[in-house]
Amino acid sequence: MDDTVNRRQALPVRVIYTGGTIGMLPGEGGLAPGGDFAARLEKALATLPVDRRRALPARAVHSYSRLIDSSAVTPRDWHTLAEDIRAHRADYAGVVVVHGTDTLSWTAASLSLQLRTPGFPVIVTGAMQPLEAPGSDALDNLEGALRFAAEPGLDGVAVYFAGRLLHGARAIKEHASAADAFASPNARLLGEYRGAPRLFAPPRNTGPDADVVRLLTRAPADYGQVNQGEVARIVLWPGMAAWQLGAWLEDSRVAGALLELWGAGNIADDPALLEVLRRAGDRGKLMAAVSQCPRGRVAMGAYAAGQGLNRAGVLSGADMTPEAVYTKLVHLLALPLDSAARRRLFIAPWAGERSDD
Ligand code: ASP
Repeated sequence: MDDTVNRRQALPVRVIYTGGTIGMLPGEGGLAPGGDFAARLEKALATLPVDRRRALPARAVHSYSRLIDSSAVTPRDWHTLAEDIRAHRADYAGVVVVHGTDTLSWTAASLSLQLRTPGFPVIVTGAMQPLEAPGSDALDNLEGALRFAAEPGLDGVAVYFAGRLLHGARAIKEHASAADAFASPNARLLGEYRGAPRLFAPPRNTGPDADVVRLLTRAPADYGQVNQGEVARIVLWPGMAAWQLGAWLEDSRVAGALLELWGAGNIADDPALLEVLRRAGDRGKLMAAVSQCPRGRVAMGAYAAGQGLNRAGVLSGADMTPEAVYTKLVHLLALPLDSAARRRLFIAPWAGERSDD
């Protein structure tokens, strides 16, 4: 092990508590984010068997003043979190982001795209049950996340949940209530925790190239507002009419769209529908498509109607998750780039979020 690794391991792990069920306490109106997370975490960790307690890294908890249910997270929060992680990076071995599970995979995808942190793990975790609930999954998730955040040889952003380490830009929440609620349908597991962390995957591309990172760190102060609703998520349904698609795409506030197509990248062969897409493309809207199927990839052009998508300039999201496409469109639209650069950067992988073979 070289000196840098030794030095890094001597540092504590930073735990950023943002809210979510994991830290919620019962109140009059139901569960709500609870405070004093540092003391509650230590109390819970103290119940672990002594060998597992000793194996934990030193930690420092930072609780956000606005603790939220993750359904209220916005692009501004993704940006603030990335800035926060960057600003304190030198003082810590790694970071655990404690987050609500509902939009955890969106935050993880955004952080994967925004951060370039070789040799510095950022582990996003949460729980389906509050920390103090009987039989809660919270303590197991926090223990594993802390261990991975101090793991030499791991870098980039990952999701840790129910014993499994998933690629941060490849994860989705696929179950509404089970403890193993997260999966990465198009990517291999990065690791597993069974009493000790085990890493499977070789080192990964750890973030966007330096030029993109420089741009991302200079994103405007009104980032959140600029991007609220700028990117629409449009999931096709049988019988979707051109006026319905147009209700989104013809609104001048919509600057980009994630389109969730049928199967391998198909859309109804309806000239009016394709015309709406073509007009949006002509107006420079940044549009990218994935499949509604969680596994596999889109290959637009396999069907005749798919050719219309290509003509409208809809970019292929290949095997990306909807989360990764959506957050990438948001970040690209926040950057001071021309349309050609945005399109080029969209199809280039930044952090292993897509594979094109
Ligand atoms: N509603 C919660 C949240 O996302 C759900 C959870 O944390 O499991 O904040």
